[in-house]
Amino acid sequence: MKIQHIFFDLDNTLWDHRKNAYLTIKNLFEKEEITLKYSIDFEEFHSVYHDINERLWEQIRDGIIGKEYLRKHRFYDTFRHFGVEDENLSEFFEEHFLDKMLYHNELVEGAVYILDYLKSKNYTLHIISNGFQEVTERKCILSGIDKYFQTITSADSVGVRKPNPLIFEYSLGLSSADKEESILIGDDWIADVVGARRFGMDVIFFDVYKENRQEENLKSITHLLQIKDYL
Ligand SMILES: [Mg+2]
Repeated sequence: MKIQHIFFDLDNTLWDHRKNAYLTIKNLFEKEEITLKYSIDFEEFHSVYHDINERLWEQIRDGIIGKEYLRKHRFYDTFRHFGVEDENLSEFFEEHFLDKMLYHNELVEGAVYILDYLKSKNYTLHIISNGFQEVTERKCILSGIDKYFQTITSADSVGVRKPNPLIFEYSLGLSSADKEESILIGDDWIADVVGARRFGMDVIFFDVYKENRQEENLKSITHLLQIKDYL
């Protein structure tokens, strides 16, 4: 059957979460004069934060922790790494992080071009995100890409996250799409690739870090424009 519906992951597939988070934390860091007060270098701070945040998101994905745990710990653990144990300071960062991040809306290179291209070929486009419900739609609207999507599904509104097949079932149901005529495009190996395959739908792995996985029948891209090779 011919592909009709394309489901995109949002963070780091279309919306450049890494870049936007970096810029947001840098602003907070400078505004709070962290380097001056605690002698912490921003690049070092960000690199520690990045590792801690990635690990916590993996734990959320695997159902080990909930999002409250992540929100309580990502900045606290980062500051603690530099010898600063201050709950108020961490809370301040967490509270302002999600709000302020929406002022930064950099998209992944080629995102608008490829969305225009797919639209012009009459595909129906959707989002399936593991992000927070309250943030996902605002990210799409503020970055100007909401108009491309017929449906936007966030893990919070379903109660389960990718790779759980239920979120794919929910999202396809919302779109009246058959899995045989659908494909997912995402950057997380477990959540997106393993998840889509387990559910039984086709998938393109956005191999951002060029992991170069050798797997049979794996559709893989390292730049969004390469989607044209498949669709
Ligand atoms: Mg992603």
